[in-house]
Amino acid sequence: MIDPRPELEKLSDYIPGKSIEEIQNRYHLDRVIKLASNENALGVSPRAKRAYEAATDSFYLYPRGEAPQLLSALAEKYGVEENQIIIGNGSDEVIEFVARAFVRKGDTCVGTTPTFSVYRFAVLAAGGNWTEVQGSSPEEKPSVDKILSQITPEVRILFLCSPNNPTGRYYSETEIETLLTKLPPETLLFLDEAYAEFAEAPDFPHSISMIRKFPNLLVSRTFSKIYGLAGLRVGYALGNADVVRHLWKIKPPFDVNSAAQAAATAVLADREYFEQSIKLVRDGKEQLIPALSAMGFSVLPTQSNFICVKIGARAMALVEFLEQNGVIIRPLKSFKMDDYVRITIGTAEENTVLLSLVSKWREENKNG
Ligand code: PMP
Repeated sequence: MIDPRPELEKLSDYIPGKSIEEIQNRYHLDRVIKLASNENALGVSPRAKRAYEAATDSFYLYPRGEAPQLLSALAEKYGVEENQIIIGNGSDEVIEFVARAFVRKGDTCVGTTPTFSVYRFAVLAAGGNWTEVQGSSPEEKPSVDKILSQITPEVRILFLCSPNNPTGRYYSETEIETLLTKLPPETLLFLDEAYAEFAEAPDFPHSISMIRKFPNLLVSRTFSKIYGLAGLRVGYALGNADVVRHLWKIKPPFDVNSAAQAAATAVLADREYFEQSIKLVRDGKEQLIPALSAMGFSVLPTQSNFICVKIGARAMALVEFLEQNGVIIRPLKSFKMDDYVRITIGTAEENTVLLSLVSKWREENKNG
């Protein structure tokens, strides 16, 4: 037997949302609606598709590792220098780079709970220790003061997800600014803003403009959500050039392939697709939240393209009922929120199917 590094024993497998094919095959269904992984229900941007197709002719060549066009488009969009940007095979890989570049064996990193699990995996795999800060309940985010009470100059990285997966909660401009002002300069704040483009709260932070003032801030974003390219795998982070250059040393040279680079560059320029995606989520929230609330479920306020809904002890039964009827949502057991589910906002038609099934389930289980 070949023994792995001991750090791997602390790790369990990442549990992704179920796939459409899996549910189609299991229940012999023609059509399955996936509202489980916070993808963009609009589908792929036509401009991204054309760029992908145009890139096929160069598939026999290695991609350009430094992704010049994508980097230049991102730098222009955010008003930063290209050397302030790292790209990766999804923001998952950027998280991996950060842990591998900055976490030494035995270093402590802090995160909130419940949240996206990849930070913890990356830290543990790098040989670090993981400390979690909780709010007053799983629904509530921990306050900035509570987070700061766990921070010492020895803490290497603080991971914050805002809007948070799976709750949809966010930290305001003032909260992020306070946190950064009080954080030791030796501690990196990794601010995961995978869902930031969907945020509508007026006090949602302009975090990227804070990277000039705070060299220990790294803000990550992704092409998997609003930009609808989850399958192509492109994520990025912006920060101080002196932090970012270490991440480029870790990055495998060809991890972001040429098709992904082309499609990502094209979708950034697709203003119409962006606006339609925002509208789809806004309209979807208006359709879903009042309807689910009227059925008696509590829906957490969200700044994202998903909602977190409290179902109660029979949450898993609802998930299974929906799967049998061709709709996949996300149970939150792996987030230790057994009574809750997370539902991605779909198209109006998909949301209607979901609502009628939830209503049917509720009627059938009234006394159960
Ligand atoms: N961060 C958060 C908060 C997420 O929810 C996800 C996707 N589930 C990611 C990062 C990873 O996204 P990707 O690797 O597709 O960029």
